[in-house]
Amino acid sequence: MTRRVAVIGGGLAGITAALQCADAGCQVTVFESRPQLGGLTHSFARGDLNVDNGQHVFLRCCTSYLALLRRLGVADRVELQPRLAIPVCSPGADAPVWLRRTALPAPLHLAASLLQYRPLSTMERVRFALAAVALKRVDPTLAATDEQNFGTWLRRHGQSNHAISALWELVGIATLNSRADQASLSLAATVFQEGLLTDASAADIGWSLVPLRELHGDPALACLDAAGAQVRTSAAVRGIQPVPEGWQITTDGAPTIADQVILAVPPAAAEQLLPTDSVTATPGWSQRLGSVPIINVHVVLDRPVLSEPFIAGVDTPVQWVFDRTAQSRLRHGQYLAVSLSAADDLVNTPTADLRAQFLPELTALLPKMRDAQVRDFFVTRERHATFRPAPGSAALRPSAVTGARGLFLAGAWTATGWPATMEGAARSGAAAATALLETSPTDVVAEVA
Ligand SMILES: Cc1cc2nc3c(=O)[nH]c(=O)nc-3n(C[C@H](O)[C@H](O)[C@H](O)COP(=O)(O)OP(=O)(O)OC[C@H]3O[C@@H](n4cnc5c(N)ncnc54)[C@H](O)[C@@H]3O)c2cc1C
Repeated sequence: MTRRVAVIGGGLAGITAALQCADAGCQVTVFESRPQLGGLTHSFARGDLNVDNGQHVFLRCCTSYLALLRRLGVADRVELQPRLAIPVCSPGADAPVWLRRTALPAPLHLAASLLQYRPLSTMERVRFALAAVALKRVDPTLAATDEQNFGTWLRRHGQSNHAISALWELVGIATLNSRADQASLSLAATVFQEGLLTDASAADIGWSLVPLRELHGDPALACLDAAGAQVRTSAAVRGIQPVPEGWQITTDGAPTIADQVILAVPPAAAEQLLPTDSVTATPGWSQRLGSVPIINVHVVLDRPVLSEPFIAGVDTPVQWVFDRTAQSRLRHGQYLAVSLSAADDLVNTPTADLRAQFLPELTALLPKMRDAQVRDFFVTRERHATFRPAPGSAALRPSAVTGARGLFLAGAWTATGWPATMEGAARSGAAAATALLETSPTDVVAEVA
């Protein structure tokens, strides 16, 4: 008997899970409430401009995400640095300071850059190196580690507020979507261990060369179709319940019966749909897990002002700036996106106020902005970009296998050990599909009946 699998949610987690199940011979139906696949990675048109809902980057250590890109046949639509190189800009500085890796093994690969990292004093650089060695020894899998606050741990290991903002948060804020003082030590240790302290090439940075829709959503639709899966977009699932034949999935149309279900929706939607007692956390867990916004400030200029694909900012509210000219298919001038993570304080700021704040800040980093004309300025706001990676969040992240037989969970917010990233989403989808495929569908039906 071909097993019928319903995947609810067509973000990267749902896409990964659905493809794995379809490739294994299951009869897969994907339910996605939006008109397109891709979830939190999507694009829209603003006149002739192709705009992403927010700049996304990945690292070479994101192996599950890179496997997904290969499965989607789009690995040639991304750029991956041959060697980590981050130009770090400060207001008024003549030239960026470069964080570059050398050919040495980790963690020595960053030693030369660190020695020349002008934003930190010599003593701060030495203390940074000592704290990095100590962070490598932290066990992120312990509940006691997850209960600790990363900022407090850094200060206990000799880090000044300035070192935290000028170096630790340069990497941490974008990967964790949190300031150090609000972040779980476990998640921070995972990011730094996986990205910077173990394998020298792990933190090489990658980004899409096309709008996200052409990287994820559209190719996923084509691949799922080719693999024999049915994709139902604009199909919000209203309820799931166990029935003698398996699971009944209720939408606004006729109900669907599946043998097994992978629920790959955001936490609040998952808690609403999950049967009572199917996860160990007590009711209200999704609200306690919470979410953190990311906003992007988009600036279209009449001329190029940035010669690198991206820069990071130090001693400025500008976190990361990306040249989006090619991806957006802008023909004249340059299009920059300023990505602002952990944006609780900015998400409700009116666009005019953001313009008044960020254009002068950008000009202080990019002197060529002084002569440029701003052709367009707009802001994208994702209020629930990621779960809140706070101390204690691990206890609120359920694993792929639920207490309800035949029902599995996926999503970047589930218990992957990673912060909410594209890698976390792909890992969670693979974990849910693997767990499902290891369970016999006939056992499932027999037990429910
Ligand atoms: C602005 C921004 C910038 C980011 N930057 C980065 C970055 O640089 N690098 C990185 O790795 N990650 C980044 N992320 C995080 C990354 O995008 C997410 O972690 C990842 O895409 C989440 O995928 P997911 O499948 O777990 O969830 P989602 O993408 O949220 O997918 C869930 C899907 O379920 C659907 N759904 C909800 N309810 C229902 C229902 N009842 N029935 C049917 N469908 C339903 C939703 O419409 C959605 O499509 C960023 C996120 C944002 C928003």
